Amino acid sequence: MAPGSDRNGHEGRRPRRRRVLLLPLPYHGHINPMLRLAAALHDRGLAVTVVHTETRAPDRRSLPAGCELVTVPDGLPPELAASDDIPSFVFALNRNCAAPFRDLLAGALRQEEEEDGGGVACVVADVDWFAPLAAARELGVPALALMTSSAARFRVYLAYPRLCEKGYLPVQESNMDMPVDEHPPLLVRDLQVMMDTSRHVAYASLLAHIVAGVRQSSGLILNTFNAIERTDVEQIRRDTAIRVFPVGPLHMLSPPATAATQKSSLLPEDRSCLEWLNTQLPGSVLFVSFGTLASIDADELLEVAWGLAASNRPFLWVVRPRLVRGRDSVELPSELLEETRGRGRIIRWAPQEEVLSHPAIGAFLTHSGWNSTLESISRTVPMICKPCGGDQLGTARYVCDVWKVGVRVEVEDKLTRGGIQAAIERLMDGIEGGVVRDRMREMGDVVSKCTMKGGSSDLALQDLVDFIKSS
Ligand code: UDP
Repeated sequence: MAPGSDRNGHEGRRPRRRRVLLLPLPYHGHINPMLRLAAALHDRGLAVTVVHTETRAPDRRSLPAGCELVTVPDGLPPELAASDDIPSFVFALNRNCAAPFRDLLAGALRQEEEEDGGGVACVVADVDWFAPLAAARELGVPALALMTSSAARFRVYLAYPRLCEKGYLPVQESNMDMPVDEHPPLLVRDLQVMMDTSRHVAYASLLAHIVAGVRQSSGLILNTFNAIERTDVEQIRRDTAIRVFPVGPLHMLSPPATAATQKSSLLPEDRSCLEWLNTQLPGSVLFVSFGTLASIDADELLEVAWGLAASNRPFLWVVRPRLVRGRDSVELPSELLEETRGRGRIIRWAPQEEVLSHPAIGAFLTHSGWNSTLESISRTVPMICKPCGGDQLGTARYVCDVWKVGVRVEVEDKLTRGGIQAAIERLMDGIEGGVVRDRMREMGDVVSKCTMKGGSSDLALQDLVDFIKSS
């Protein structure tokens, strides 16, 4: 091809960028990492279209520069989108969006034939989007899946039928503390606490669809890095025999959306908390957040609140709407607010990445969501883990027992204020806390090395970009 000509030999035109279509699952914890991947792919010379459902579509202005947004109709009743029945929601999305997505992709391919250069090189879809992944394959477009949780969690997906056959699942009271021999360090209680049989069956069916979709795709992108999950990544490679790209932590590949473009966040960010943090001593404040979906009982909320009060530490606590099951807002007792006046700040939504970067933050009481865990590790903030379900259970096990960069809130029969207070003291005052902080500092160095030029995640990303460009 002559210099200055495109791949069809037309002279005098700059070759157009190859295009990638990205499909996030419409949950905040899935959209965010996909948008970070979008920014990274665009920075490395690809044109990016984010294809989103009409449900929870992000504001165009929240997209990384240069990326475009297209929405597809999903026809979902708002009650289903708002419910916590995730398998039904994901199945309905796949059913309703497969045809609109196929039409969109077919249209883009027709346009490619009519125009010069560029064209759709690849589709990257959240692992949950098994129907669009299949549609891309049928139209001859390479399809890659993105797992927004850990590699260890994806191994649980792969192993789910075997775990059921072996009787680990569904989890029963009697086998909770049994080690899962095939998957150290997990205990049965870390797999998925789902005692209700019909939910268990629906979830197993969803995972079977997800795994089948990934196995038939051209590759799997993982939001993790080799230094913490090398064994799990290698195991997935062996098990699936597809290409695996551990490019994480994705949030380190591009800056967070700016305040002006924060429309993709669930709620308006309360940025005044950053000013409040400026008035606090370095390493003194406990940041508390249970992510975007986890919910707790009203009693548990009170136990957390009184545990924070008893710790005598300054704290910044995100109490978002529906944190307490079924309630849009909560009122805390006036005695408690009085007792923590001046040292406790409660907000509805935080600029979490900026909060974790603030020197006043000394620890993070977290539900152990995967994004929160990676954000905490990259800012070297040690964690107090209070997982609420799903992948959070296994992640907390890795954080506390394998990487040893956090401590767990001990829960006997139920969550207590004493359990919260004890965990805060262990991490923020005790000798154990010092050891955990040292480990966390080492971990911070490791993650920086992975993402810098020539590090394992940087190389995996380059490998991914090369793969896409050569498709
Ligand atoms: N988050 C935020 N502000 C908040 C609470 C959460 O920006 O007040 C973000 C957080 O930075 C993370 C995401 O929401 O990127 C939560 O994802 P995670 O995987 O930790 O939990 P999920 O909500 O998906 O269970």
